Amino acid sequence: MAIIIKTPGEVEAMKAAGRLSAMVLREVGRHCKPGVSTLELDEIAETFIREHGGVPAFKGYGGFPGSICASVNEQIIHGIPSKDVVLQGGDIISIDTGAIVDGWVGDNAWTFAVGTVSPQKKRLLEVGEKCMWAGIEAAQVGNRLGDVGHAIQSVAEAAGYGVVREYVGHGIGRNMHEEPNVPNYGRKHRGIELLPGMVLAIEPMINQGTHRTRPMPDGWLVCTRDGKPSVHFEKTVAVTPDGPVLLTVEEDHLRPL
Ligand code: MG
Repeated sequence: MAIIIKTPGEVEAMKAAGRLSAMVLREVGRHCKPGVSTLELDEIAETFIREHGGVPAFKGYGGFPGSICASVNEQIIHGIPSKDVVLQGGDIISIDTGAIVDGWVGDNAWTFAVGTVSPQKKRLLEVGEKCMWAGIEAAQVGNRLGDVGHAIQSVAEAAGYGVVREYVGHGIGRNMHEEPNVPNYGRKHRGIELLPGMVLAIEPMINQGTHRTRPMPDGWLVCTRDGKPSVHFEKTVAVTPDGPVLLTVEEDHLRPL
């Protein structure tokens, strides 16, 4: 399948889905408190998206039951919301969610601290976010896909962390997952050239320990192989002649940094 280039008008049209995706992520983040179950978070997300005129992008996608993925501590991605997973102080929780508006999809993720977390987790959160921004900053016309991955990998590995290999970012548009795959590792000047109108979900998954993963028996959840914590930060970004434009934001930001 080829990469679907969006016109400036289509990029503009994607902002509504992006904005609602960012709003719901913040709303769920506000509720990541001790004693709250990930099923409650899912209900908050679904209600919020529908009340704002969107459709949850994840619900039913490939059979996924939730409107969010909720992945706690050593869980990397694709945690199914559950009444049995109740947040405790000191946890970190990765929330991945998105909305469809006018047929366009937004996709974003953030890892939140629940109460006060250890200095180790705090550093992992800081570096994970930095990885995402480094990847976004590299999403420039004329750069190549390898530059995005390289930027992310450099920040993560300089901090001693592992970059997940098996799960990657992706093109996005009328479908949540389009070409190309956007790895969070790579070599400078390698891979396809980034062109105006490409819209990418840039989403590093950064592990405190080994980059290796362990898929769980429910067919969705993926954990770290060594049981150490992992973080996940994601934004939907348009590649434009003026630089990367964030779509999953509540305000218009021309440049991330
Ligand atoms: Mg994504």
